[in-house]
Amino acid sequence: MKICVYCASSAKIDKSYFNAAEKLAEIFVKNRIEVIYGGGGTGLMGRLADTVLKHGGKIKGIMPRFMYEVELAHKGLTDLEFTETMHERKARFLEDVDALVALPGGSGTLEELLEAITLKRLGCFTKPIVILNTNDFYAPLRDMLKKCVEENFMNQKHLKMWEFVNFPEEVLPAISNSVMWGEDAIFFAANK
Ligand code: AMP
Repeated sequence: MKICVYCASSAKIDKSYFNAAEKLAEIFVKNRIEVIYGGGGTGLMGRLADTVLKHGGKIKGIMPRFMYEVELAHKGLTDLEFTETMHERKARFLEDVDALVALPGGSGTLEELLEAITLKRLGCFTKPIVILNTNDFYAPLRDMLKKCVEENFMNQKHLKMWEFVNFPEEVLPAISNSVMWGEDAIFFAANK
């Protein structure tokens, strides 16, 4: 199984976020899951990669060449794919993966997550999306998405596109229990 992880590049965040990233990485290695991520060496990205590598797991980075050239890449990766643009990179994240997991992050993580949700809404991406809500970090996003549905900017059915969990141990069960999603999602894209 291949899982793509979106997460923070910032290293200035609370220790609890690092602990959650580390725990998730351990769970992935134990379950022989291959991790795909942004290829960064700092913040939660760095901790995720360090921990997977430390335990002998598989992790692949996908990064635009310009980021590599300014030394934003993790130095220990054995598998690092280059793209020309950020857009191309985001598209590659979604190819051949079995699920997406978003950890806390900044605008980069939010953008990646919301693009994946949008593509799922249109039936272009159909895999489970799990949001790791460490310290209730994602409560405002959960409320925003709920508001989108309550005010009919989105359909009730869209609430099944993602799963919020509080702890790393809940990520794999949430993926297994996620609601089946098909390309027909495009037909309930709007509330009529
Ligand atoms: P953010 O959640 O804003 O930290 O952004 C995470 C996403 O942006 C990932 O896709 C990263 O590859 C990219 N990114 C932004 N800033 C950096 C950085 N200083 N080092 C590595 N990646 C970064």
